[in-house]
Amino acid sequence: MDFAFSQRSQKLQEQLHTFMAHYVVPRIRQHKEEIHAGNFPVSFMEELKQQAKAEGLWNLFLPALRDDEPGTRLSNLEYAPLAEIMGRVTWSSEVFNCNAPDTGNMELLHMFATAEQRQRWLEPMLNGDMRSAFCMTEPDVASSDATNITCSIIRDGNDYVINGRKWFSTNAAHPRCDFYIVMGKTNPDADSHTQQSMIIVPRDSVGVTVERNIETLNHQSPEGHCEIVFRHVRVPASNLLGEEGSGFALAQARLGPGRVHHCMRSIGAAELALELMTERCLERKSFGKYLFEHGSIAEWIAKSRIEIEQARLLVLKTAWMIDEVGTQAARKEIAMIKAVAPALHTTVVDRAIQIFGAMGLTNDTPLAEHYTWGRCLRIADGPDEVHLQSIARMEIKNAKQHLGRAAKYLTPSKRQA
Ligand SMILES: Cc1cc2nc3c(=O)[nH]c(=O)nc-3n(C[C@H](O)[C@H](O)[C@H](O)COP(=O)(O)OP(=O)(O)OC[C@H]3O[C@@H](n4cnc5c(N)ncnc54)[C@H](O)[C@@H]3O)c2cc1C
Repeated sequence: MDFAFSQRSQKLQEQLHTFMAHYVVPRIRQHKEEIHAGNFPVSFMEELKQQAKAEGLWNLFLPALRDDEPGTRLSNLEYAPLAEIMGRVTWSSEVFNCNAPDTGNMELLHMFATAEQRQRWLEPMLNGDMRSAFCMTEPDVASSDATNITCSIIRDGNDYVINGRKWFSTNAAHPRCDFYIVMGKTNPDADSHTQQSMIIVPRDSVGVTVERNIETLNHQSPEGHCEIVFRHVRVPASNLLGEEGSGFALAQARLGPGRVHHCMRSIGAAELALELMTERCLERKSFGKYLFEHGSIAEWIAKSRIEIEQARLLVLKTAWMIDEVGTQAARKEIAMIKAVAPALHTTVVDRAIQIFGAMGLTNDTPLAEHYTWGRCLRIADGPDEVHLQSIARMEIKNAKQHLGRAAKYLTPSKRQA
């Protein structure tokens, strides 16, 4: 294993740090005020995007870009520290065209789109001119098990007709969200993992209704986590992504690197929280001592540092494995880091909130927003428990293959032996 960052990645890290310090961090207040005033997308986003693009800080996440597609073609390992830097400001990934769920959708289109789909949907996304949502989760079924999905996608002549209700479709309230990738059932009688397909649905299709933007933890994200109804929505059959019945496999492919991007950003959020808590401890005293001189707070600082380092190493290992052996072979690492990083994110931010006292709960710090997002990540892209179950399954499978190997270390009494 070699996690050393290439010169290219190091140079981009410096450049990204500088960009964030000059153009993003000074606009945190303005961003908050504009969102509060209902001004979304914020007035400076397009300008920042153009600037990032001009500086080559664009599409940093997609290693397999073609020669004629804009971006840096960094490996996942090279990208990890860059995503970490973006993770410090929740809205900053969009500036560099690296925000979810567009990144996952771009990856999906990159792998499976036809030439026509590439031209119509992928190219504008790679250029930052179009945004998208991914619609898998449904309110009426346990959607962490994708085989439960009930939305129907029925072939009718040269079209497919879609009926279903989705929710938590991130980005769907964004005025530039022009299409959805919808997962549903085309083959309800097939084997449970080949019933599903994915299809591209233009936002302005007849029968699409965005019913609401759902608040999470009392927080409304301006780009939205929306509930959308599809009533007899008709789209051309050429909008199908991949083969009929390949939806489950496509979902797996989509979630590999995308899940790890969230984890990379979580490390950045936790690192910022640790910096904030240590600075606060250095300037504030209670009961005659600086806050860091209280044993419990010193322990939180130390534990936060240890846990961040542990999680960062697992993020890097996962990214490295995706690069070296591919998403499928790295699936245990992907599940492990998805179970670890959101928990780390919320734990460290929660400690920082406590250290800031009442101020930690206000919007005067970024902590409440980071906490909300970290907590959401323990459910989004699959709840913790599902990832833990996958890891346990892989461990048990491995144990079955080597049954008796560990038992050699046992020293039972002669009677039991
Ligand atoms: C902020 C946010 C953004 C999201 N964005 C999107 C999006 O863009 N597109 C999209 O399609 N979806 C999105 N989601 C939805 C998300 O992917 C689902 O909520 C998630 O997959 C869980 O599905 P569910 O809510 O139906 O929970 P359920 O499947 O009903 O599960 C409920 C709970 O049951 C428990 N559980 C389930 N399975 C197991 C198991 N095997 N072992 C032990 N316990 C288990 C877990 O505690 C789980 O939290 C988003 C969610 C959030 C919070």
